[in-house]
Amino acid sequence: MTLHCEVAVVGGGPAGLTAGALLARAGLRVAVIEERNDLGGQYFKQRHGGVLQKYGSFRPAGASLIAAAIDAGVACLTGHLAWGFQDGELWISRHADGRIERVQAASILLATGAYEKANPFPGWTLPGVCTPGCALHFAVIDKVNIGRRVVVAGSGPFLLSVASSLLNAGMSVTAVLEAGFPYRLSKTSLRAMRYIRRVREMTTYLVTLRQHGVPIRQGWRVLEATGGQRVRQVKIGRAAHTEELDVDTLCVGYGFSPNSELAQLIGVECKADPVSGDIFPIADDYGRTSKPNVYVAGEIAGIEGVQSALNLGRLAAIAIAEDLGIPSQTSAHSLKQLLKARRALKTFAAISSSLYHIDSSPRPLPDQTIVCRCESVTAESIRKAAFDSDNDLQAVKGLTRAGMGPCQGRECGSTVAAIAGADLSAAGRFSSRMPTKPILIGPELDVDPTIHAH
Ligand SMILES: Cc1cc2nc3c(=O)[nH]c(=O)nc-3n(C[C@H](O)[C@H](O)[C@H](O)COP(=O)(O)OP(=O)(O)OC[C@H]3O[C@@H](n4cnc5c(N)ncnc54)[C@H](O)[C@@H]3O)c2cc1C
Repeated sequence: MTLHCEVAVVGGGPAGLTAGALLARAGLRVAVIEERNDLGGQYFKQRHGGVLQKYGSFRPAGASLIAAAIDAGVACLTGHLAWGFQDGELWISRHADGRIERVQAASILLATGAYEKANPFPGWTLPGVCTPGCALHFAVIDKVNIGRRVVVAGSGPFLLSVASSLLNAGMSVTAVLEAGFPYRLSKTSLRAMRYIRRVREMTTYLVTLRQHGVPIRQGWRVLEATGGQRVRQVKIGRAAHTEELDVDTLCVGYGFSPNSELAQLIGVECKADPVSGDIFPIADDYGRTSKPNVYVAGEIAGIEGVQSALNLGRLAAIAIAEDLGIPSQTSAHSLKQLLKARRALKTFAAISSSLYHIDSSPRPLPDQTIVCRCESVTAESIRKAAFDSDNDLQAVKGLTRAGMGPCQGRECGSTVAAIAGADLSAAGRFSSRMPTKPILIGPELDVDPTIHAH
């Protein structure tokens, strides 16, 4: 079956909902396709059932944004994954029963957000090791106590936010390990001080950590996690020094990567960020991409935080409406303000990324370290395949199955490419294929037989 709408928005997070609500209010037929069963995305995740009754809404602004989209008449297809694109149509399927549908829209807005970066290290697959975002979800959405000796490590401002949320939720954090040196006086940190709202936010986290006596150890990285049934110890290092810490939970994350597979599949021109190596769609300030009528907004367009996602959602809505010939409902003054905010958010994101700049090239991994956890492929197998194939990434994938599992290389892709010594430009990475994620094949299969899953 083909669903028809004027605007198909993929992703029901802050960016997608903001754009969707504005476009529906302008009189357009809008569908938001969201793979999770809930709207809100990462920042505005919703609580449910007993947790909601006992603790109330998490970030009530999120509930208001969701209500605004629904009230505006947005058709919210939650529990639907957009996994393919052919002949100008999106392919989606419903998790509940695998029902596959096509979506035909005059405009497509990709607001698919980002993934956390969990660079592999020995022991990263042990129970008790997770990403900071995962720990945060347990602590504040599910209200589950994840441990009594938690170490939060990696790099980025998100670590402080997570550590202080865990402390506020009653958990005990032993230390925050920041691989870089952002919390010291420098030209860049002085520039960041001009952003008063951000400074206030940071100060709140720092005060919480100080009140609980949690040290922030800069320049330290996780080298190895060990334990039997669960992580028990973590070996950490700074230059030539190493130490061991007792833990029962270890959260490690190195920021976020854009979720750009669908954009790549659609054929949007992308580029690798020269610092992080992440693959971003190329877009203007309004989210217009190289493909006519395909737009991006939110973290897929730039890892700049929730305020930027909201701002980009508004700008994309303006561009989509204008390109569809809908008279603008935004005053010249409001547009000027939005663009001014855009510049400020972009500048702050650039300052932040240079403040948290670390050498992100993966550390040399011992041979037996699992790199692709979906297919249990070790660093040794990848090195051997790279040697045998003259560093051809696709051949490494074929020879080892690295990146062929359920995550399709989202977790391990950049590490596999780096170990394989492959070209790290957008063209040299694992290619995006249909279906971008595993899908349930339902009984009402109504698909074009020329489409094959890889
Ligand atoms: C794990 C994680 C935790 C985070 N926690 C915080 C936090 O606590 N505080 C903070 O300031 N920032 C946090 N961030 C950053 C935060 O994501 C952004 O600032 C903000 O939520 C970005 O909004 P967005 O709309 O661009 O993307 P998101 O909020 O990520 O929303 C994107 C939505 O698109 C959906 N989606 C993606 N692909 C598809 C598809 N193919 N089909 C259907 N649906 C799809 C996703 O399920 C998701 O709901 C977190 C990011 C991650 C990845």
